[in-house]
Amino acid sequence: MEKIYHVEMLTQTLGERVGPMALETMIAANLKQDSILGLVGHNEYHFDSNAFDASDAYMEAQRQIALRVLRDKREIILARQAFGRLTHAAQDFYAHSNYVYLWREQFNGTDVMPAPSQVAAMDEVLLSHLELHSGKIYFGEALIYILPFLTPWVFPRLPEDSHAKMNLDYPERGDMFPYAIAAASQRTIYEFELLGERVTAELGDGAWEKFRSG
Ligand SMILES: [Zn+2]
Repeated sequence: MEKIYHVEMLTQTLGERVGPMALETMIAANLKQDSILGLVGHNEYHFDSNAFDASDAYMEAQRQIALRVLRDKREIILARQAFGRLTHAAQDFYAHSNYVYLWREQFNGTDVMPAPSQVAAMDEVLLSHLELHSGKIYFGEALIYILPFLTPWVFPRLPEDSHAKMNLDYPERGDMFPYAIAAASQRTIYEFELLGERVTAELGDGAWEKFRSG
């Protein structure tokens, strides 16, 4: 997703759950995933190219880092950065996969299409759906990032399963974009609460309070 939407989602979901410094650290770590070094060869940061297992493992590794930092009483910023990186992957999942399409397909043929706010971000059936897939980064797409003037020639030739044709990274991608934002926001809160439960269970309320406040 484009920067502005990662920032907006984090501010709206975590703004009232964490302190201003914590939020700032999480936003910076989230955005850093989209730097050149974070884009090349890191499908797992963005749920790109069907790297579902690698992305899930990456998110779990970030939870483990946060837990370890709190357990060992190391600098709290390291735990917050880990969670910021996790939120990037969690949010990109809904922008780079067909999850929200699959969710909406369930209502095809019904009278009223549910609003984006009604989306269920953690539907177990859809999360393991056989048709769940994410956009692949093809050479041609990498090429148009470097040489944008080639876009009119390259874009129509990219396959339907390419990141370029599937992504819901910004509003101009169409009416599925608000569903991706709603699901990604919901997932951000889910991930925050999940980490909170695990920290509290292992290390107590004090550790979670330290993570959140400030
Ligand atoms: Zn990304």
